[in-house]
Amino acid sequence: MKVLVINCGSSSLKFQLIDSDTEEVLAKGLCERIGIDGGMVTYQPEGKDKIKKQADMPDHTEAVKLVIESLIDKENGVISSLDEIGAVGHRIVHGGESFSSATIIDEKVIKAIEECNDLAPLHNPANLIGIRSCQKIMPNVPMVAVFDTAFHQTMPKKAYLYGIPYEYYKKYKVRRYGFHGTSHEFVSKRAAEFLGRDINDLKVIVCHLGNGASISAVKNGKCVDTSMGLTPLEGLFMGTRSGNLDPAILQFISNKEKLTIDEMLNILNKKSGVLGMSGVSSDFRDLGEAAHEGNEQAKTTLEAYSYRVAKYIGSYAAAMNGVDAIVFTAGVGENNIEVRQMIGEYLGYLGTGVDKDKNNIRGEEAVISPDGAKVSVLVIPTNEELAIARETVKLVG
Ligand code: ADP
Repeated sequence: MKVLVINCGSSSLKFQLIDSDTEEVLAKGLCERIGIDGGMVTYQPEGKDKIKKQADMPDHTEAVKLVIESLIDKENGVISSLDEIGAVGHRIVHGGESFSSATIIDEKVIKAIEECNDLAPLHNPANLIGIRSCQKIMPNVPMVAVFDTAFHQTMPKKAYLYGIPYEYYKKYKVRRYGFHGTSHEFVSKRAAEFLGRDINDLKVIVCHLGNGASISAVKNGKCVDTSMGLTPLEGLFMGTRSGNLDPAILQFISNKEKLTIDEMLNILNKKSGVLGMSGVSSDFRDLGEAAHEGNEQAKTTLEAYSYRVAKYIGSYAAAMNGVDAIVFTAGVGENNIEVRQMIGEYLGYLGTGVDKDKNNIRGEEAVISPDGAKVSVLVIPTNEELAIARETVKLVG
């Protein structure tokens, strides 16, 4: 079956067409500046160069139309008609407590996603627009919602409750949800396969280190804890997000700088993390370069980043009363040799670490712990689109 995977943002739409039999990506692309002047569609059929074309897209329905036009285009298309698309899989950021797995989209599901809008005001409404637009253009194609939060719904109450009055959980569902669930599930399963181990008898810590970053503790295939919370702001510090901090800092800085809560949150989401701390960039490549050129603040930022990841690994080893495998994934986890090495320095007490030679790889599956280590340290590239396509086919059949 050919599955169209859609990841819809407020002014962008990313897509991949995946052949679920071969798991090959037939084409992929991106619509940018939807609803804004200067729209741009990038389309890349498998094995060919990217094709960029300017096209104003007043709304997401227009963007979906252009995606389909590209996919069936005589010269560069990869299918002959819309009918070849067997299903659409939508990435949905927040499923709240309503969804612990992917689900076929109907009106009831749309309503339940809408009810989670409050929890992810920047993402869920955009995800819903994506669903509605696809329904308009492909009314007879079954659609599936795959949630970023679903995999983490197995977390026990002791892990997901905050130490605040319980009434806020009861009234507003304020609790930890976690994100990147599709990736944590995909990578933990793949790590078990790669090691030839039974996932149902394995303790895995997945470090998803991308622009956004989160860690999860996966015991016997189920998530028992993860570092992101009610929103993706909690946990590690990331490209531009602060991660954990003393909540009183909000009041302190807002008083000093005369900022509103919204302005403070904007700073914590967009101007903090490695960007804020280093003053260099949110991109780890720039950060690494600056550190090599002797920028002390960049060096400290890399140290602080690795230190925080290592502390989470320690706490999740404690949460699971042990760990069998520690896995690095996403942009930084898959590619940043130096950061992995720095984190590895903290793992000696677990009877493991990162071997310098084995660690000299990028973007491929590998064991990077030394021979004979008690705990395997691995790199496993994530593939959220493929995971969404697999979930979609499982439900659509
Ligand atoms: P997103 O959360 O946006 O999906 P990614 O998973 O693509 O983010 O990760 C982006 C990060 O990965 C950037 O900080 C980038 O510097 C880092 N990265 C990507 N490739 C490399 C590389 N070859 N070496 C070092 N860092 C890399």
